Amino acid sequence: MAVKVPEVLRTKGEAFDRALARPMLIRTEDQWKEEAYAEAEQPEAVGAVLVETLHPHLINAAVGYLYRKEMARNGAEVWAKASKVGGKLAHYTHLDFLIEVNWSRWLMLSDERRIALIDHELMHCGYDGEHDRYVLVPHDLEEFNAIARRWGSWRPSMAHFATALGEGAQLALFTHD
Ligand SMILES: [Zn+2]
Repeated sequence: MAVKVPEVLRTKGEAFDRALARPMLIRTEDQWKEEAYAEAEQPEAVGAVLVETLHPHLINAAVGYLYRKEMARNGAEVWAKASKVGGKLAHYTHLDFLIEVNWSRWLMLSDERRIALIDHELMHCGYDGEHDRYVLVPHDLEEFNAIARRWGSWRPSMAHFATALGEGAQLALFTHD
């Protein structure tokens, strides 16, 4: 097994290796100008392994994966984005969710970060059993670094996040410089 994964995914190491061995899309600037979207084969293969292991409520969901050359919001780079396919679009596609991946960023990510990124996007893809429908799930926490620095865990959602972060940090899967 080449890729490092958390314990819960340990048996899937080879499946991830195969998924990440899918050919990486190579496109020139001109080709991106002609066509703004491209099938994201590698993210889709990673997503399939994640769904069967960690997101079983999505086994019957149709999730589409597309690359865009670059993605940003309010001037900040966005690595990927999940949306629910509804309304007019749902009429024209078979999809329940769409995951768009920033191709330029994807090229630079390690295997482990690629899996973490798709796992994150799949967390946004939820199922409401009571109403039998797919729903978009918001983040558990949205906060400013400055507020965390000034006030620490000032509300329960931050305390839960801090605990989770501490547990995740022990895995030492990633280093930041
Ligand atoms: Zn997100």
